[in-house]
Amino acid sequence: MNILVCVKQVPDTTEIRIDPVKKTLIRDGVPSILNTFDAFALEQALQLKDKNPANVKIVVASMGPKQAETMLRDCLAVGANSAYLITDRKFGGSDTYATSYILSKAMKKIEEEEGSFDMIFCGKQAIDGDTAQVGPELAEHLGLHQITYAINITLNEDNTTALITREVDEGKIVVEARIPVLVTFTKTDDLRFASIMNKMKSKKAEIKEINYEDLEGIDDTKIGLKGSPTRVVKSFTPDVKTDGIIIREDDPNEAFEKFAEELEKAKLY
Ligand SMILES: Cc1cc2nc3c(=O)[nH]c(=O)nc-3n(C[C@H](O)[C@H](O)[C@H](O)COP(=O)(O)OP(=O)(O)OC[C@H]3O[C@@H](n4cnc5c(N)ncnc54)[C@H](O)[C@@H]3O)c2cc1C
Repeated sequence: MNILVCVKQVPDTTEIRIDPVKKTLIRDGVPSILNTFDAFALEQALQLKDKNPANVKIVVASMGPKQAETMLRDCLAVGANSAYLITDRKFGGSDTYATSYILSKAMKKIEEEEGSFDMIFCGKQAIDGDTAQVGPELAEHLGLHQITYAINITLNEDNTTALITREVDEGKIVVEARIPVLVTFTKTDDLRFASIMNKMKSKKAEIKEINYEDLEGIDDTKIGLKGSPTRVVKSFTPDVKTDGIIIREDDPNEAFEKFAEELEKAKLY
């Protein structure tokens, strides 16, 4: 069972800065981490590997700048078998459509080395871009069926289908999907920590690089800023104005009375 986990490096901050001219994220100088939902996707893949270590291989892949190598090493340290960085100046400025197109082409390239993938795992969304589009778009580019909002996955005995628990508005549902399948994961089980030994090993591990030249037949009109159909017209942080009242009574009963008065005045009580 060959599993590809698509992982994105995201800024470790809620303060996302946008380049006022290019309208893209400014990543320089911002510490980065593995996207939370991708960590859950990886954890689910690792749990399948725990059950059958000899027969499950996990490959992680990320499209991004060179600095994403650190995050890929973290994935290796918790148990991924190999890691690929898809990186090239020509990929810069890609929107979700271009990103998923490049990922689909890179996946075919990775398959030449690792064998065909039975399952592709993604996070349900990236905590910076937040669109939740790349997983479903990747499934479309690859002609695969997709199961979204998964919280758990198990395989049948002959590895031809997977039972996937999905989170839906009404609660949870379990669906059976034929393999190959693309699954996007939301918050699942607790995440594991890497051992010190594995962390040290991962520092020396090879991160394989895939560049533009490696992707034979890639359509230049579908990559980078020029190949991106999305146009960011404006991005801004809305001004949030609050008219707060601080009640400073020492006696809690008096404070409560005052609080109730204020609620009444505001017609909230
Ligand atoms: C016009 C435009 C220009 C942009 N220019 C840039 C730019 O120059 N530089 C830049 O960094 N971003 C740029 N972006 C943002 C970029 O489009 C998104 O970061 C990217 O497409 C992923 O979208 P998302 O963050 O919403 O991911 P989501 O769709 O929310 O992610 C869902 C899942 O897809 C997978 N995934 C997403 N992105 C990647 C990835 N890169 N590698 C591997 N797996 C992934 C992960 O599993 C993730 O959990 C631009 C966006 C637009 C609209």
